[in-house]
Amino acid sequence: MVHFDTLEQQGVTVAGLSGLDDGDCGWSPRTDGQRAAYLRRCGLEPAHLVSVRQVHGSRVAVVSDADRGCGANMDALVSAPVADGMITDVPGLPLGIMVADCVPVYLVAPGAIGLVHAGRKGTRQGISRSAVNALVQHFGAAPETLWALVGPSAGPCCYEVSEEMARDWRGKGLPARGCFLDLWETNRRQLIASGVPEGQIQVSGCCTICGTTYHSYRRDGGTGRNLAVLCR
Ligand SMILES: [Zn+2]
Repeated sequence: MVHFDTLEQQGVTVAGLSGLDDGDCGWSPRTDGQRAAYLRRCGLEPAHLVSVRQVHGSRVAVVSDADRGCGANMDALVSAPVADGMITDVPGLPLGIMVADCVPVYLVAPGAIGLVHAGRKGTRQGISRSAVNALVQHFGAAPETLWALVGPSAGPCCYEVSEEMARDWRGKGLPARGCFLDLWETNRRQLIASGVPEGQIQVSGCCTICGTTYHSYRRDGGTGRNLAVLCR
């Protein structure tokens, strides 16, 4: 279990990411207990968790008290919004996103928060930019007041894709070294382009694939998920 102090110092109750030590925090009847235990260790109520049905897109949902509990377990998840990001201004509403190599992006504004699942596709479609725009549009957040974290995920050291995908990536002017894509820098640039000050964007620099702290889809062959949590 890792907590991100920089964000917690900005007034959010919890900004964290579960790791190997916390077990598999994904959604299945087998793992619901592990996720609930992790949330309790974070001081959050598992029955109140809000999540989204992640589809590797770039849609950002606005969630509120009406969504409370839609991420509590697999049955509840059926009613969760289909999206890869969430924003809310509700204090005490815990947001959770499932990742294992995809990038969790955390956003903290003075009166609202956002949590994003930025995989290769979502990153390419600009989901970090969409999330900042959503905070501005729905909650009147000024981009220069935002703090952001590009969390532990597949690093440019290890995230190798096919030549065809890499060509497409480089063709869009996105950062890559040969067939190794840089999802961290791509999301960081989107945040900067959206008006978030560079000094308020933290990149964890922790790679899930070559590190030993988190579950990795690439390294472990698809078993085990990390849960990113953020709560005002
Ligand atoms: Zn690596």
